Amino acid sequence: GKMKIIIIGGVAAGMSAAAKASRLNKEAELVIYEKTEVVSWGACGLPYYVGNFFESPNNMIARPVEKFIEAGMNIKIKHEVIAIDVDKKEVTVKNLVTGETFIDNYDKLMVATGAHAIMPPIKNLSTKGVYTLKDYTDGIVLKEEMLKDENQDIVIVGAGYIGLEVAEAAKHLGKRSVRIIQLGDRVLLESFDKEITDVMEEEIRTHEGVELHLEEIVQEIVEENGKVVKVKTNKGEYPADIVVVSTGVRPNTAFLKETGIEMLGNGALVIDNHGRTSIDSIYSAGDCATVPHLVRKENVYIPLATTANKIGRIVGENLAGVETEFQGTLGSAAVKVMDVEAGRTGITESEAIKMGINYKTVFIKDKNQTNYYPGREDIFVKLIYDADTRVLLGGQIAGKKGAVLRVDSLATAIYAKLTVDEIGMMDFCYAPPFARTWDVMNVAGNVAK
Ligand code: FAD
Repeated sequence: GKMKIIIIGGVAAGMSAAAKASRLNKEAELVIYEKTEVVSWGACGLPYYVGNFFESPNNMIARPVEKFIEAGMNIKIKHEVIAIDVDKKEVTVKNLVTGETFIDNYDKLMVATGAHAIMPPIKNLSTKGVYTLKDYTDGIVLKEEMLKDENQDIVIVGAGYIGLEVAEAAKHLGKRSVRIIQLGDRVLLESFDKEITDVMEEEIRTHEGVELHLEEIVQEIVEENGKVVKVKTNKGEYPADIVVVSTGVRPNTAFLKETGIEMLGNGALVIDNHGRTSIDSIYSAGDCATVPHLVRKENVYIPLATTANKIGRIVGENLAGVETEFQGTLGSAAVKVMDVEAGRTGITESEAIKMGINYKTVFIKDKNQTNYYPGREDIFVKLIYDADTRVLLGGQIAGKKGAVLRVDSLATAIYAKLTVDEIGMMDFCYAPPFARTWDVMNVAGNVAK
C-alpha cells in the first residue's frame, strides 16, 4: 500500500518537514499530531508580543491550522503521542478532547516535539504570578498579566536570550522595576564571550529601573494570599508582582526513553546530517534534537528556529525519499536588549578552549560609520581564528543600529574557510551612513596578529 509518514509536533521543524514531504511525494499518506491548538507559529515573537510591540497574537502564526487542512494536510490538533513501539512501528495517540487513546502505524516517523522550559529548584515555584515563556498560551497569559497596572515589579530568573528579551518587553511597558537575576557571573553565558557580554551588561545597567544581579541564586518565591509578592535569593529579597523563569529548555523526549533511541544527556535525540536518529525509519529535528556543528565537528544542542526550519526541511526531503544532507550549523544567533544588539557565529573562545585547539583572538572597539553622518555608534568585534592556518572559526559583534547583521558575513567567511587576512581585505560595502571605507570587520581582520 501507500507509504505512511507520521510527524509528531506541528511547529517549525514538523511543519517544515510536512510541507516539503507532501510536495515531493504526493503518493505518501502523511499525518501530523500536535497536542496544542496552534501549528506553524513562531515563538521568537513572544517577547515582542508580551511587550506590546504588536497587538494580535495571530501575527505570530505563519498559517492557521484551517488553511493547512483546506490545502489537504492531515493535521490532528489536540492529539498527543504518548508512546512509540519501534518494533511494531506504531504510535499511541491520545485525543485530548475525548480522552480516548488509539494506535496508528507508520513506515517513517519524525519526532519534532520541541522542548519545554526548565524549572529550577526554587521553593514555591508553582505560586500564581510565576510564569515561563515558551508556548503560545504562555504568551497570552503573561501578556495579560504584564498589561495589568497593579503588576509593576518584574523579576526575571535567568539572563539568556529569552530573559533579556523579556526584560526589554517589561521596560517597554514602563514597569517600575525590572530585575534580572542570573546564577552565572555574566549574561548570555553560554553563547557569547566576556568582551561582548560586558558591552551588553553596561547597556542594561544604563536603563533606570532595570537591575542586573549576577552570581545570585533565587531560592524562594514568597506568596501572600496565594500570589507572589517577593523573591528571596542568597543575597537579598526583592518585591515581585510577576516572576518570569527563563533558565533554558530541555527536549520533549521523555516518552521515548524506553525505545533505546540514542540521546544526549539532556534528552536531545542524536541525529546525522540527514536528520536520521539511531533507530531506522525515525527522523528528528528542532528543539528536541541535536545539530551537527560545522566547526566543532560534533552533534551539539543549540535549540534555534533557524536550524529547526532548515533541518526540518531536510527531513521532509528524506521522508519523501530524496536523500539530502544538512551542511551543518554555525550556531549563528542574535539578540537585542533595549538599544544594543549582539550576534554570534561559529565557536566562542570558551568553545575553542574546550576543543583544545591552537587558537588566537582579536577584540576591537571601533565606530560603525563616518563621524559626519548622524547616528555614529561604537561597535565591538571579536574574532576567534586558528593560530596556525589563520582560518576564521568564530565571530561576535555588539553594537547598535543593525550592527548585528555583519555577523552574517562572518558566518559566510567561516563556512568558506576564509582567513582573517582575507577578511582584512574583503570588499565590504561602504557609504557614509553605513560604514567607513575600512569597515570594522576589515579592521578586525587586519588587527589580527
Ligand atoms: P516547538 O516550536 O517547540 O514545537 C514543538 C511542537 O510539538 C509543540 O507545538 C508541541 O505542542 C508539540 N508536541 C510536543 N510533544 C508532543 C507530543 N508528544 N505529541 C504531539 N505534539 C507534541 N530561535 C531563533 O532562532 N531566534 C530567536 O530569536 C528565537 N527567539 C525565541 C524566543 C522565545 C521566547 C522562545 C521560547 C524561543 C525562541 N527561539 C528563537 C527558539 C525557537 O522558537 C525554537 O527553536 C523553535 O520553535 C523550535 O521549533 P520546533 O518545531 O523544534 O519545536
